[in-house]
Amino acid sequence: MAALEVCRHLGGRPAGTDPEPLSDDGCAQCRLIGAGWNSLRLCVSCGNIGCCDDSPHRHSREHFAITGHPVIRSHEPGEDWLWCYPDDTGSADSWPG
Ligand SMILES: [Zn+2]
Ligand SMILES: [Zn+2]
Ligand SMILES: [Zn+2]
Repeated sequence: MAALEVCRHLGGRPAGTDPEPLSDDGCAQCRLIGAGWNSLRLCVSCGNIGCCDDSPHRHSREHFAITGHPVIRSHEPGEDWLWCYPDDTGSADSWPG
């Protein structure tokens, strides 16, 4: 048995099965307060778009804290890796950094 399996949240989520992004216009919560962000993340449970942990307000993580939706996918061009907040682990061929 593989000891290093990705967590139970990350299995069976190929790119193309995600919900439609709720925003085409970046992080809506940052826009509300006039803040900027670094990178964007898509919630694969509901399509919420939020800013990443490198952004000042970390709205994707806040979305997880509020809703319990565990997994995001990078919403940056050319990136399709996943990240699981509760397990603090990711699944990626093109892992950033
Ligand atoms: Zn997980
Ligand atoms: Zn934000
Ligand atoms: Zn969500």
